[in-house]
Amino acid sequence: MKKHYFITVSVASCTSIKVDIIMKLTLLSIFLVFLSILGVFSENARFDNYRVYSIEVQSNIQLKILNELSETSDSYNFWEVPTKVGVNADLVVPPHQFAHFGEIVDKYNLTTNLIISNLQEFIENESPKRQRKEEGDMNWDDYQSLETIYEWLGFLQRDFPQFISVEDIGLSYEGRPIKVVKLSKKQNARAIFIEAQIHAREWIAGATVTYILNQLLYSTNPDVQEMALNIDWYVVPNSNPDGYEYTRTSNRNWRKTRSPVSLICYGVDPNRNFAYNWLTPDEDGNLGASKAPCSDTYAGPHPFSEKETLAIENYIAEIKDRLDVFLSFHSYAHQILYAWGHTKANVSNYEQLQAIGEAAASRLMETDGIVYDVGTTRNILYAASGISIDHAYGHHGIPITYTYEMRGSGTYGNYGFFLPPQFIIPNGVEVLQSLIGLVSKAREFGYLVNNL
Ligand SMILES: [Zn+2]
Repeated sequence: MKKHYFITVSVASCTSIKVDIIMKLTLLSIFLVFLSILGVFSENARFDNYRVYSIEVQSNIQLKILNELSETSDSYNFWEVPTKVGVNADLVVPPHQFAHFGEIVDKYNLTTNLIISNLQEFIENESPKRQRKEEGDMNWDDYQSLETIYEWLGFLQRDFPQFISVEDIGLSYEGRPIKVVKLSKKQNARAIFIEAQIHAREWIAGATVTYILNQLLYSTNPDVQEMALNIDWYVVPNSNPDGYEYTRTSNRNWRKTRSPVSLICYGVDPNRNFAYNWLTPDEDGNLGASKAPCSDTYAGPHPFSEKETLAIENYIAEIKDRLDVFLSFHSYAHQILYAWGHTKANVSNYEQLQAIGEAAASRLMETDGIVYDVGTTRNILYAASGISIDHAYGHHGIPITYTYEMRGSGTYGNYGFFLPPQFIIPNGVEVLQSLIGLVSKAREFGYLVNNL
């Protein structure tokens, strides 16, 4: 009996342990499902049913309302902050704000055009190959990882040791190297500097600069070969590697760096973090950047607060005497912009800058008919302070500096920052052509002319 009793107790005990374990596992799995719904395990930001509207800003009151929306709401996301009447603003609206947004549209008579009806679906269609394991071979049929790009730079240095050098100019906040490639076939040639991908989500910018570098090395076009021979090229293919990797792994819509800037927010807008006229308001009081750490255009706690911008700045300071041209690659407004961003005033050589920019734009248009506007950042795009091209111009005295705003939305489709990879090569071809126009016109004014 005793034995039987023991067995009975033992069985009962086992059963109760099993029940206990099953209950705990069930509770745990419910908890895990709950957590995964909350996104605790998946840091990948999703944009299911988010809409993107292009809004025609037709009056100052509409401008004011949209600015208020951008400053006070963390659920609306402007791809470009509206700061000017007559310039369209593209706005990402989450599903829980559809009703609110509808009310604002009605109340202020906003003219809107729905350009993307489901942002998540759109991102997934943008680059399906991105899900595949990358083999490490560089190409321009798709957007490449930082690892692939850097590996390719290593191959270039190995294959062309006589005129390609790759240098680490600093580390990002998360410790990724920032690299500059120098292409130099002649000693002491005048130089062009290009920084790209400073805004993380503008993938076309980084893809274009590597396309151009590749063409400078391999093109059979005599104009391209001539530029490669007689000009020194300094290229930073990825000026914001942390932000870029974050767009590839976690949030495709990320713009800034990844340094912690407040208890709850990350990142500084690196193209508002350069020192020249940092956070300086224009004539209308527009700051051209934000003091709010959570804002997409946060200028940072002080100029060059970001390791990325400081690395670029220190490098430019070293080589500035060789530079006639400084370019910053962005998307997606189809523009070539020069100084200033923080004032309506003209720079002393604005006639040259306008003429050279127009020569570049006209050469660009010959390829695919894409029309780029040329003018100052403040006057044709919006107020922007602390931007790289103004610092290069105003502080370092580099005479020709432009921001390129490349493809994103046009007759070929409305994609915003998420330009599908089949446009990398067409965009690269036309931008390379524009550089031929730019160089040729700049030489008429005596720039990029070697006195060897
Ligand atoms: Zn940009």
